[in-house]
Amino acid sequence: DDLTRLRGYKWLLVLPLSLHHKPRGTLVVAGKGEIAAPERQALLKVLANQIAVSLDNARMYQAVESLATTDGLTGLYNRRTFQQRIEEMRERAHRQNRTLALILCDIDHFKKINDTRGHLVGDEVLRQIAKLLGETVRKVDVAARYGGEEFAILLEATEEEGARLLAERIRQETEKLHMQSEKGPFFCTLSLGVATFPGDGLTTLELIARADAALYAAKHKGRNRVVCYREISDGTARPAA
Ligand code: GH3
Ligand code: MG
Ligand code: MG
Repeated sequence: DDLTRLRGYKWLLVLPLSLHHKPRGTLVVAGKGEIAAPERQALLKVLANQIAVSLDNARMYQAVESLATTDGLTGLYNRRTFQQRIEEMRERAHRQNRTLALILCDIDHFKKINDTRGHLVGDEVLRQIAKLLGETVRKVDVAARYGGEEFAILLEATEEEGARLLAERIRQETEKLHMQSEKGPFFCTLSLGVATFPGDGLTTLELIARADAALYAAKHKGRNRVVCYREISDGTARPAA
């Protein structure tokens, strides 16, 4: 066909890869010599059946894994995956003597959006912000839905200043998102808290608690802002090793 060109072959055997009477693909075999003998063709058909079963298993495995690790609404990693990743990334940061930054984000007055514009509009806001987060982080980083309208971002080998800049960019981009609802267009904002390993916390629990404290301070200071834990700590946080 237009996409596939086979030159110098004498015959072509196209075997359907079907399972439960549904097509899953084709196995195409081409030959330069004489056309394959009937018993060889029969063998290829058996092979095609086995490929179809294996393909189906692989797809099923992928689907189940995706269901278990991602959040259905936003497609970001779910909280469980986040917990696994933060442990792994903290250990790696420790081993390689690097920093790890955590940003926790929470949508401002989200309850009001749900109450006045409806839950479906609220869901769309979550999707749009999740899309923005997913597009903003690097491949090595992790963006997850941490709770109802809370998101967590893990930034590998990133210092507080880098994390603060990224958080600030996310805040500004969110502010610019044009949201739509039956009651007319609207905007929404994010509050963000930043904490880093090892400077602000050595254990993952400590790191999360400190990012959360920074987020809480961002809310308290009037929302739609970024606060780093160090700004609110009284200096008792451990200095970076
Ligand atoms: P604040 O600025 O202090 O964060 O105020 P808030 O209204 O955002 O905070 P609050 O925690 O009171 O409200 C969070 C709301 O998020 C309440 C809950 O109904 C809503 N929510 C949680 N998960 C979902 C979801 O999956 N879809 C929708 N539409 N709403 C959700
Ligand atoms: Mg919240
Ligand atoms: Mg909120």
